[in-house]
Amino acid sequence: MTFDEHKKNPISPWLPRNHSLKNKTGKWATHIPKVNQEKCSYPDCVKCWIFCPDGSISFNNKKAVIDFHYCKGCGICSKVCPNNAIDMVKKK
Ligand code: SF4
Ligand code: SF4
Repeated sequence: MTFDEHKKNPISPWLPRNHSLKNKTGKWATHIPKVNQEKCSYPDCVKCWIFCPDGSISFNNKKAVIDFHYCKGCGICSKVCPNNAIDMVKKK
């Protein structure tokens, strides 16, 4: 399935539509991802979106953005980003 086809489901390629919306896992996070949008190479890369287990990543103004209502701070997006565009920082 192509990314354009996946965009019809804005949540995640791994989750049925609206599945993750029921589970507001944002309160679990001790650390949260901070995106350096200068380094993000969307649309050439959508790796963080593919791997985020909570469907917390979308793209706005052609850059990755995080929905902190759902981001549980697992850090996977930071690990998979080929451009080191995502740092995990302590949640305040
Ligand atoms: S993995 Fe990195 S470069 Fe790729 S879309 Fe996400 S933030 Fe941008
Ligand atoms: S840290 Fe990244 S991969 Fe993990 S839930 Fe948050 S946005 Fe998704």
